[in-house]
Amino acid sequence: SLTGTDLHLSFGTNKVLRGVDIHVDAGKTTSVIGPSGSGKSTLLRVLNRLHEPEQGDILLDGRSVLDDNPDALRQRIGMVFQHFNLFPHRTVLDNIALGPRKLRGLSKDQARAVALEQLELVGLAEKAQSRPGNLSGGQQQRVAIARALAMKPEIMFFDEATSALDPELVKGVLALMTDLASGGMSMVVVTHEMGFARSVSDTVLFMDRGVVVETGKPEALFEDPQTERLQAFLSQVL
Ligand code: ATP
Ligand code: MG
Repeated sequence: SLTGTDLHLSFGTNKVLRGVDIHVDAGKTTSVIGPSGSGKSTLLRVLNRLHEPEQGDILLDGRSVLDDNPDALRQRIGMVFQHFNLFPHRTVLDNIALGPRKLRGLSKDQARAVALEQLELVGLAEKAQSRPGNLSGGQQQRVAIARALAMKPEIMFFDEATSALDPELVKGVLALMTDLASGGMSMVVVTHEMGFARSVSDTVLFMDRGVVVETGKPEALFEDPQTERLQAFLSQVL
């Protein structure tokens, strides 16, 4: 499980997180929704300690990770962003094998075996020897997901993984994320895809201006929002 308690972060005078609590049970999916600038990406970046929280705690399986080496923490968390940042001059397989080789200390053959296994899982084994530039955006994002999974993370973070994709490519990536969720992966998903948030998540967290305004089961949040802020947000995005 992953827990963040009372997380605070400012950029200068801009208080971007003002006491955020989040809890993700093992095997569960939490979607984070909210307006632009509400602090969703920053929350993910604090949870994997790309930014150090000014206040609050982060626990994995009930144990605080703030005294650990941040690199060790980041290896336990898989990250998928809007822009996939694959190495253009390496093959798809090498892109995935690189992390296991360098960071998990696998041999070249072991790393390639892990990479191929993950590539099969995302349905792209036949692209192993292609360059990323010859794949569609949706396929590249699935490779980026395979790359994260090859590190055998305990939890996956997605930050608007489908926002940069052409509409017809979004479905395939969401289907893969849905498969991962139902396969028991723990996930935190920042998304503008309300259909996904509603149908796949166990918990939805609505953020606005650096605080969690409402959280609960998707049915409750989407069908019976309690605050004017969430009502207004949903009326804009649904
Ligand atoms: P979006 O839906 O547009 O991605 P978001 O909810 O992810 O928005 P954040 O990216 O977390 O929002 O940004 C929250 C606030 O923090 C914004 O006011 C933003 O300008 C500010 N911010 C984020 N990153 C930095 C940074 N590295 N330096 C300074 N300010 C930042
Ligand atoms: Mg963001």
